[in-house]
Amino acid sequence: MTTISNSLMWFRKGLRIHDNPALEYAAKNSSNVYPVFVIDPHYMKPDPGAFSPGSRLAGVNRIRFLLESLVDLDSSLKKLGSRLLVFHGEPGDELIRCLKEWNIKRLCFEYDTDPYYQALGARVKNYASENGIEIFSPVSHTLFNPAHIIEKNGGKPPMNCQLILKLVGEPQWLSSPLSTTLDTIPPIGDVGNCDIIEVPTLKQLGYEDIQEDEPPIFRGGETEALRRLRESTSDKEWVAKFEKPKGDPSAFLKPATTMLSPYLKFGCLSSRYFYQCCKEIEKEFKNHTDPPVSLRAQLLWREFFYAVGFGTPNFDHMRGNAICRQIPWNDDDELLAAWRDSRTGFPWIDAIMVQLRKWGWIHHLARHSVACFLTRGDLFVHWEKGRDVFERLLVDSDWAINNGNWLWLSCSSFFYQFHRIYSPITFGKKYDPSGAYIRHFLPVLKDMPKEYIYEPWTAPLSIQTKANCIIGKDYPKPIISHDVASKECKRKIGAAYELNKKTNGMVSDEDMQNLR
Ligand code: FAD
Repeated sequence: MTTISNSLMWFRKGLRIHDNPALEYAAKNSSNVYPVFVIDPHYMKPDPGAFSPGSRLAGVNRIRFLLESLVDLDSSLKKLGSRLLVFHGEPGDELIRCLKEWNIKRLCFEYDTDPYYQALGARVKNYASENGIEIFSPVSHTLFNPAHIIEKNGGKPPMNCQLILKLVGEPQWLSSPLSTTLDTIPPIGDVGNCDIIEVPTLKQLGYEDIQEDEPPIFRGGETEALRRLRESTSDKEWVAKFEKPKGDPSAFLKPATTMLSPYLKFGCLSSRYFYQCCKEIEKEFKNHTDPPVSLRAQLLWREFFYAVGFGTPNFDHMRGNAICRQIPWNDDDELLAAWRDSRTGFPWIDAIMVQLRKWGWIHHLARHSVACFLTRGDLFVHWEKGRDVFERLLVDSDWAINNGNWLWLSCSSFFYQFHRIYSPITFGKKYDPSGAYIRHFLPVLKDMPKEYIYEPWTAPLSIQTKANCIIGKDYPKPIISHDVASKECKRKIGAAYELNKKTNGMVSDEDMQNLR
């Protein structure tokens, strides 16, 4: 490798120093490295009509997490003799301006498979190649290159998570320790007339901070990610015996899983480093769990959705998506709003949606419960609408994983046992018979006796009065009868499956209309 004077490190995800091959490469043999992050207004347009502060695409919890992650990254870079150069604007324009202004000879950035980032990357790459700028864009957000998985599967994305390791084997980087830090980063050169800003506040980005009764559950950044990873893996036996889908979705004082997803989403934590840590722990236990249920395997589920998302045109839509069953979902915005705003009258569902809004995170089986209820279980609302709500409210919102799981939960792809429906009454009760989770997130029901906490509309009026919660006044009546609605959902999905089979998935708009 030749020594090149000016390199630019473009941070997008991968907001970390450890195991960051693009940053390591930029740091090698450069006289100057410019670490850049562009705050992209695409995600942040304020949405004043919405039910909580934030934009259509990114809610306040996620943006707070991002800003904290940038402050943390800036502080780590400063310790290495550098700093983060923050811009606000359309990332392609900003990047190209920096490349010109600073006479950059090498551009480094992590490869990203999300369609939005692919398009952005392509535009900047085109400019760089036309202008003789060396490009280094390694895969480090995922364990494997999704394109490699697809190639090994004969050019098609695998439709089964368990195929991943069979196709590509354990990753090559697994056998030697990944870098945990860097010694130093070459200094920034002259920045000329560029409009560099400090990491902005939420308010400066048009967000209103909603500090309610509880402080935010997550603190963004690599420092916190590594602390949480150490904490999660300190109980080695817990790691070795981890088994999903076992685990209590109602546990909120000490949630049943690692809660590392927001850190993986933004790349504050390297999934490869996490995988390596799990693998090391497994070596110490003969009877450790294995894929697809072990903790390490959860990262393979992530790979799976990345590979399928990357290899499937229109993965985020029903129409034009070859792996998605065509189902005549309804567009009932009132039902959608009742679900989104915790007004369904089913305490288990409403409490989960409160937790989602407040924390920006819910347990995997809680996601199952509310996604099933909205789509194939009860309300028959289009999965794309539920996906949008999750996209906005989850701190860990991830294009491939979110779309993949909504396809799964709505029985549109991957999983087809549409007769198996999560009951909005009995499923939560199995884990939390006293209803502590509901009382915490729906305090209006805090004095409801446990016999009625999952079905408060069945409580006699005298009990409702004593509990200070009159159903229909203080808390809604159920918006549907679960027994009736779930039977109707099964009937409609059964008919849609038949038609998909008959037409080989080529269901016309007219057929769709007839199914409604
Ligand atoms: P752990 O159980 O501790 O797992 C560790 C990591 O493995 C997670 O952080 C995550 O990166 C990965 N992982 C775990 N489960 C899955 C899975 N089923 N699919 C893919 N990767 C997985 N996860 C997201 O990260 N972003 C999303 O936008 C997202 N949307 C979802 C939507 C629906 C409808 C459903 C049912 C699930 C969704 N998930 C999503 C997957 C999963 O629920 C979360 O990854 C998990 O609950 C995060 O908690 P954790 O970090 O404690 O997980």
